[in-house]
Amino acid sequence: MARVRVMAVKLATVQGAWPVPRLGYRAQLYSDDGHELLWTCGHEHTTPVEAHSCGVEQLGNPSEDQQTA
Ligand SMILES: [Zn+2]
Repeated sequence: MARVRVMAVKLATVQGAWPVPRLGYRAQLYSDDGHELLWTCGHEHTTPVEAHSCGVEQLGNPSEDQQTA
């Protein structure tokens, strides 16, 4: 088994001529001892809840859609 963590990432959206900073969220799966990063989701979730459910979904389908970042 692994554990799900949610990481906040700083993103920038360009609106007109100016980049506007915003926050996004990514799910990460760590090994049980929390030391080994097993998987990072490749999305930019807008809420931590959404990112967390993405990680939980990945936990349920570990062989499917494997991504490494
Ligand atoms: Zn995701």
